[in-house]
Amino acid sequence: MRLIIMGPPGAGKGTQAAHIATRFGIPAISTGEIFRSNIKRGTELGKRVESIMVAGGYVPDELTNEIVEDRLAQADCEPGFLLDGYPRTTGQVEFLDELLARDGHRVGAVIELTVDEEATVQRLLDRAAVQGRADDNEETIRERMAIYHTETAPLTAIYADHGVLVRVDGMGDIDEVTDRIAAVLTDIDD
Ligand code: ADP
Repeated sequence: MRLIIMGPPGAGKGTQAAHIATRFGIPAISTGEIFRSNIKRGTELGKRVESIMVAGGYVPDELTNEIVEDRLAQADCEPGFLLDGYPRTTGQVEFLDELLARDGHRVGAVIELTVDEEATVQRLLDRAAVQGRADDNEETIRERMAIYHTETAPLTAIYADHGVLVRVDGMGDIDEVTDRIAAVLTDIDD
């Protein structure tokens, strides 16, 4: 099962990714988490991406694609995976398609979480108060939303064309949303 979860910042992607991955026995892979952990550990990669992330911009495709290629080559991804926060640009969509095609695989489903955006800005501000993430201030949140709409939202159109897009209402209880997602994934065999 090779899955992607998409949705604006604060849609609950990370939370749902973890729940869905556990339910289907596949790893949840968040490019944002990989970058944050590198920043925390002060790695070379972390140093390269820190200023970009703090400003809410996108890490260049070459760098992001390479990170994903390495991660997907690990053994735990053999039965499948759930990508959260990737792909985010058309270049990343093409790269992922080609990467999977090399092994005769393809993306099985793209889950788009739909949410009320004002509610999500509030969720992110609440998270900032608890987790202290450097990119969770109102200005950066608005910037990430704007970038999501111009850069990432059009990707859903590509996946809709490929016939793999499923839209799921992301508002409501965490478990309720997980059940909704799981229900639409029952027929997926890629
Ligand atoms: P959110 O979805 O709330 O913005 P993420 O953890 O997915 O949070 O991403 C945080 C930041 O990490 C992004 O704003 C961006 O700077 C960087 N990032 C994560 N994934 C990608 C990607 N696929 N391409 C480019 N930049 C990325």
